[in-house]
Amino acid sequence: QNDITSNEELISYRKQHLGKSLSLQYKVPIKMVRGAGQYLMDQFGRKYLDTVNNVAHVGHENYYVVKAGQEQMALINTNSRYLHENINALAKELIETLPPELNVLHFVNSGSEANELAIRMVKANTGERDIIASEVGYHGNANMCIDISSYKFDGKGGQGAPEHTHIFPLPDAFRGKYRGKDAGKKYAEEVQKQIDIVHEKGRRVGAFIIEPIISCGGQIELPEGFLAMAYEKIRAHGGLCISDEVQVGCGRMGKTFWGFQLHDVVPDIVTIGKPLGNGHPLAAVACTQEVANKFANGMEYFNTFGGNPVSCAIGTEVLRTVKREKLQENALEVGEYLKAELKKLAQEFPIIGDVRGQGLFLGIELVDANLTPLAEQTDYLANRMKNYGILMSTDGPDYNVLKIKPPIVFTKKNAEELLFYLKKIFSEDFMQVTITS
Ligand code: PMP
Repeated sequence: QNDITSNEELISYRKQHLGKSLSLQYKVPIKMVRGAGQYLMDQFGRKYLDTVNNVAHVGHENYYVVKAGQEQMALINTNSRYLHENINALAKELIETLPPELNVLHFVNSGSEANELAIRMVKANTGERDIIASEVGYHGNANMCIDISSYKFDGKGGQGAPEHTHIFPLPDAFRGKYRGKDAGKKYAEEVQKQIDIVHEKGRRVGAFIIEPIISCGGQIELPEGFLAMAYEKIRAHGGLCISDEVQVGCGRMGKTFWGFQLHDVVPDIVTIGKPLGNGHPLAAVACTQEVANKFANGMEYFNTFGGNPVSCAIGTEVLRTVKREKLQENALEVGEYLKAELKKLAQEFPIIGDVRGQGLFLGIELVDANLTPLAEQTDYLANRMKNYGILMSTDGPDYNVLKIKPPIVFTKKNAEELLFYLKKIFSEDFMQVTITS
């Protein structure tokens, strides 16, 4: 078939005519042509096990989700100014999963839009624009999102924190500023320091935003007690608390449906994205009646695509599939098995410094005996795994964390396959780092 463009041509056209800061995965990029469940297929018919894509939550091209979208698309798709069952149905499905306080929804089209709206809500509610966020946090690509994303403004091409953003140290109990038992309390004190800095400037805090497990930070689990203490301090000074569930939400955590529920807190605003549309652009902001009432100050909130019948049919089917197929339970069971086995692997291969995470949202951190990050080995491993047909991603400020966040239909057999190849590659010469302390 000579009407198919070669990969080289696709690459050279991208370089010339698509955004100049778009990146490509892998040194030799792959062209994926099909998806099914936890698998992807490239143009040569090669099958890959996907341990990366937490967007294809209930599986790539899930039959029921695709069908729901196609059927609604053939009937009608309009904006939310007309009545439609689908928007109410999706709202009901979501509200059922949330604490009773969080029972108002705004539907949007991406995680960035969700966080952008959340920050507007903060301004409308508190009149303040000072935001406290974590070091290496990422909350989206829109203006206000970038302004609170240390992952971006403290990284390549960034220009540091804007005046109204206040960053506290990454609450990493393994290699961060504070480690061990008291870490939660110590990091909460760092949040207090930022509150004090805002006060010294003669202003007050608008909000505190964080992910329950910091994804771009390298799958950092918040230390015990930290979130409850931080929320208490923020609220004591009139600020709102936002939980960014764009990566971790919708049952992936296993033990709980939402990440904040692991920490026994109830945020004022929850932002939801990636998994909700299973690949279709759909996101949401959940908040309390009070927050929603203050945001509705007379100015209409209009969003052309947000809450359209097609997106809502898809989102509803995603949530129903999670329930029907008991995928939260699967995330717990397979995730706990995989985590326990990875911990065993860490005994055998000392360059695995830490294994962490919840459900099917895990991280493996590679370090030497001095806890020096091993970025080259991490990158090598991800590329070697690709050769064995397993897709893995790397992240963290030092590029030394392997992230495991597959579609939550991932099975124990998939976990076994992953472990088999991990073990094989950890045994290779390149991965043998001399451990001298
Ligand atoms: N929040 C978090 C935690 C994210 O990881 C992302 C995307 N990686 C976003 C927000 C932004 O979502 P989107 O790319 O859908 O705009």
